[in-house]
Amino acid sequence: MLYLYNTLTKKKQVFKPIKDKLVGLYTCGPTVYSYAHIGNLRTYIFEDILKRVLLYQGYKVKHVMNITDVGHLTSDADTGEDKIEKAAKKTKKSAFEIAEFYTKSFFNDCKKLNILAPDIVAKATDHIKEDIELIKVLEKNNFTYQTSDGIYFDTSKLKDYGKLTGMNFKKLNETLKAGARIELSPEKKNITDFSLWKFSPKNSKRQMEWQSPWKIGFPGWHIECSVINLKYLGKAFKGKKLFPKKAQTIDIHTGGTDLIPIHHTNEIAQVEAVTNKKFVNFWLHGEFLVLKDARMGKSIGNVILIKNLEKLGFSPLAFRYLALNSHYRASLEFSLKALENAQESLNNIYNFVLDCLIDKKKTDKQRSTTLSLKKIEKEFEKSISNDLNTPKALAAFWKLIRDYYQNRNNSKEFYELALKFDKVLGLGLDKIKLITPSKKIKELVKKREQLREIKEWTKADKIRKIIEKSGFLIEDRKEGVIIKPKL
Ligand code: AMP
Ligand code: ZN
Repeated sequence: MLYLYNTLTKKKQVFKPIKDKLVGLYTCGPTVYSYAHIGNLRTYIFEDILKRVLLYQGYKVKHVMNITDVGHLTSDADTGEDKIEKAAKKTKKSAFEIAEFYTKSFFNDCKKLNILAPDIVAKATDHIKEDIELIKVLEKNNFTYQTSDGIYFDTSKLKDYGKLTGMNFKKLNETLKAGARIELSPEKKNITDFSLWKFSPKNSKRQMEWQSPWKIGFPGWHIECSVINLKYLGKAFKGKKLFPKKAQTIDIHTGGTDLIPIHHTNEIAQVEAVTNKKFVNFWLHGEFLVLKDARMGKSIGNVILIKNLEKLGFSPLAFRYLALNSHYRASLEFSLKALENAQESLNNIYNFVLDCLIDKKKTDKQRSTTLSLKKIEKEFEKSISNDLNTPKALAAFWKLIRDYYQNRNNSKEFYELALKFDKVLGLGLDKIKLITPSKKIKELVKKREQLREIKEWTKADKIRKIIEKSGFLIEDRKEGVIIKPKL
């Protein structure tokens, strides 16, 4: 059984897909006007763990992610400039080139972090016709009104608007006003109303704009996610045409906690206003990565990128380990010290896997480890099934490692269980291989041995360094010298 904390019900609930063993999973993708920072990536790691846990439990997953390449304005209140157009203006590149560049960079980072690729990646700019279809139905159902700068959704018309926040309509409006998250434009009827379609500004030409039944313009930020969900998971689009009655409820939708009060709340509004049906069963949200109490944010500018960490000599997977070592619903304070510890832990895990490989030939049939391994496996599985408790799952993994070093036997069983755990953890353990050293390296090892026997420590050490430069480590053990590939 898999328990997941559902933002909608504010409870941990047993997860059950709507259809047999197939799970529809939607994750809000990046806004591609600059590099994804490690805060963003923390959220994508949490979502990757969710997907891997579902796969581990035998579910099939259809994973869809959008790419926000148009319509996200510099404020979440539908004011300011389009983030991508603004970035394009600053450079000599077009808005489309900017979006493509940062999309590539995002997936490159994901690959380095062993984040499994979605089954469908859908760009906002490829779904303008579908956006228009959805807005047309909203208009027909009387949920919209027009201002001088666009078509807006009248949030007072939806009976349970804001339910994801746990607040009623009045309270949510007051809260957003007090938090100054949203400025009330004079023409907006309610502070929570949001744009569905924005008109291009009169006196400047946008690079990304489209004809519409209203005026030339571009979609609001939230419509793309409603549409992409309805199309690829909700099965409510046939070609570009929307059939609201056919819409199916979606199993899981995820994102960072900042998306709850506006983006996700508005996604729900847009869909439920046309389908009259629950949009999503399970809403999961990841907490922030913070730097000394300030949230890391692209618009705040206090960002750290994966390539910055690599330059400092860290492996991207050390960051993944760091992220797994705290629960996704707790905020994670990032520090270089914490990352150093994560890197050390990761190196130790890699060494354990290497040792298992080195010891592989030695299997002690007399001493069964099956019982203790079963216990550890149970502990691991219980942890990941309890709302993705990765810190506890890692603790079970460390138990496995400690157990191994007590007797160093039956390495095959330990190795196989470690790799099974890694199907969820994604630390790249399957990539660790023993390489056979060349004849030259073997000869150097032998020579070093001879020098050590005659106590020529300095000369022996020089040879060790030469060996290390060729990518091998040597370890002196009571059973002899072991040559390991350097990680
Ligand atoms: P964006 O590219 O800004 O649209 O954000 C992409 C994802 O990163 C969203 O799910 C956000 O909620 C999430 N996010 C943004 N900032 C942070 C942060 N500091 N820590 C964790 N997740 C974040
Ligand atoms: Zn979204």
